[in-house]
Amino acid sequence: MTATFSHGARLTIDLGALAANWRRLAAEAAGAECAAVIKADAYGCGIARAAPALWRAGCRTVFVAHLLEAERARAALPEATIYVLNGFPPGSAPAYRALGLRPVLGSRDEIAEWAGMSRAAGERLPAALHVDTGMNRLGLSPAEALDLAGDPVLGAFAPTLLMSHLVSAEVPGDPVTARQVAEFARVRAAYPALPASLANSAGIFLGPDARHEIVRPGYALYGGNPTPGRPNPMRPVVRLEAAILQLRDVAAGETAGYNARWAAPGPRRLATLSLGYADGYPRSGTGRAEAVVGGVRCPFVGTVSMDLVILDVTQAPAAALARGAPVTLIGDGLDLDEVGKQAGTIGYEILTSLGSRYDRHYIEDVSPAA
Ligand SMILES: *Cc1c(COP(=O)(O)O)cnc(C)c1O
Repeated sequence: MTATFSHGARLTIDLGALAANWRRLAAEAAGAECAAVIKADAYGCGIARAAPALWRAGCRTVFVAHLLEAERARAALPEATIYVLNGFPPGSAPAYRALGLRPVLGSRDEIAEWAGMSRAAGERLPAALHVDTGMNRLGLSPAEALDLAGDPVLGAFAPTLLMSHLVSAEVPGDPVTARQVAEFARVRAAYPALPASLANSAGIFLGPDARHEIVRPGYALYGGNPTPGRPNPMRPVVRLEAAILQLRDVAAGETAGYNARWAAPGPRRLATLSLGYADGYPRSGTGRAEAVVGGVRCPFVGTVSMDLVILDVTQAPAAALARGAPVTLIGDGLDLDEVGKQAGTIGYEILTSLGSRYDRHYIEDVSPAA
């Protein structure tokens, strides 16, 4: 079958699978509220389409990284609770208030500014408190957080959530996780009235001690495996296909691609695809990545170029090889985690790099609203 690819490569995002993944994670975390992390344009899937699909599935709380993302989240979700993970830049509190955003506050300075803004506005503005239990990236130290618990500044605004972030949730049995779970439990005991949140995607699968009142999955919603080393319980959301532009047969010793970095070990059939690093496909996939052609895994040969890649399709069924025929780069059993590994990175980076140059198709969620 010949596909019509006006852009060379086609990205298909299954909003039904996204909604099903949210419901699956909500069920796994039963008893806790399941939020959704939709930073980085919903991990490359498109916040304007992904956020309403999550809302229809029943999600009421979302997390983004910064103000621009929060503006987009608010446009898509007029009623949702929106937390901004990176807090707020100095002086930007009024913009947060205008859009009803809740910054995640991670330092005494930030807390003082938010409290001051609340006093000036004559309104206790909501915000989360971030405790750093081991990442050393953002947040109050446990000692600072315990000290803050009795501080009248907390009466000046409206703390609505106490959160921390896991360092190694995806590494089974990493002792740092148990230390963080215990440390966070100790700090949150000083805030008995506040809902708490610790778990990202992988954290949800660590058991009840890591869940608290709100869980914050991102990657797993979009099809990434939250249980590395075990079968992926999530449905694939993203499918990436590119069209074959040309087929050619090369003799042993002929080279392909820039700098002749690949030489045919014998007679080979090559297919050139309309996709490259300018689309967000990693150049580091050179010589290591694979694509699925007619159900058969075929290796990349030569360097990934800006708009083209070359595949060795010698083993692919002849019926799948034609000018215009689609080849699968993500999907058909080749999942995000494996694509990431083949490119020497992680599935998260594959997902969030998905470019704007693809022909994007959304499969609507047709399941009943929650
Ligand atoms: C990105 C992020 C998440 C989501 O993590 P995943 O591993 O994608 O589920 C949760 N919490 C914080 C603080 C984050 O930065």
